[in-house]
Order: sequence, then structure tokens, then C-alpha cells
Amino acid sequence: MSDLGDLYQEVILDHNKRPRNFQKPEGANRKAEGFNPLCGDQITVYLVLEGDLIKDIGFQGSGCAISKASASMMTSAVKGKTKSEGEALFDKVHKMLTGAANGDPEELGRLAALSGVCNFPARVKCASLAWHTLRAALESKQNPVSTE
Ligand code: ZN
Repeated sequence: MSDLGDLYQEVILDHNKRPRNFQKPEGANRKAEGFNPLCGDQITVYLVLEGDLIKDIGFQGSGCAISKASASMMTSAVKGKTKSEGEALFDKVHKMLTGAANGDPEELGRLAALSGVCNFPARVKCASLAWHTLRAALESKQNPVSTE
């Protein structure tokens, strides 16, 4: 395996071991649930959306290492971005995961660590689950206020 491959694997293992934003953020006003039946990955993405700004984001759920690491990286990448920046990133990551484009480390930063996933078709859904769920959360209507 190349050095780059090793580095990428390290990034994924690190995010799996210590997932970032693995919690429901305070004041979350959007959420969406995602499920990948092929692997059994489950995820709930929470957003604190202020106008167009993704002010805070978190996720909960369980799944394989790839799905968890991908969710962790996704939340780190879109936190503090605008809705349209988040959607643009979704497109780039989706193209990278499906092999339609190479992961450009300059554009994608650490997300490029997921580029190897496109060689493992069964894993593509694991890696893209968090992103699809993010998009659903961005498009969802504001949740009714609950006392929970
Ligand atoms: Zn999985």
C-alpha cells in the first residue's frame, strides 16, 4: 500500500475510534435519519440551522467503521458552512465515492481519505450514508418544538 493509502487509512481509523460531533447538539432544529440495510448502518444527523448557516451539527447511530468515520468527517467538514457550501461538498464527495471524479485533496482536505472506498462497491453506501442523511436534514422542515 502506498504512503498515501496508509495515511488515509489512519484518518479513517482515527475518526472511527474518536468520532467528532458524536452527539445531539444543543438547540438542534433539523434532523434526518438514514439507514443502510445492506450493512446495517443507522445514523441520525442533527443540525442547528440558523438561516443559511450550519451553525452546529452532530450525529448519533451505529454502524461499521466506514459509515462512522464518514459521518464524523462529514460533520467536521460542513460545520460552520452555509447550506449551499454543504450541498456543493455533497456533490464532490458523491462523485469521488462513485468514482466519477478523483478525490482532490486540495478541494476535499481530509475527506479525500474516503476516495479509496470507490474500489469497494459494497462500501460506497456506507460512506455516502451520512451525506445523504445530511442532505435530507438540510431539506427537512423545521421540527415542531418538543419538550423532550
Ligand atoms: Zn457499513
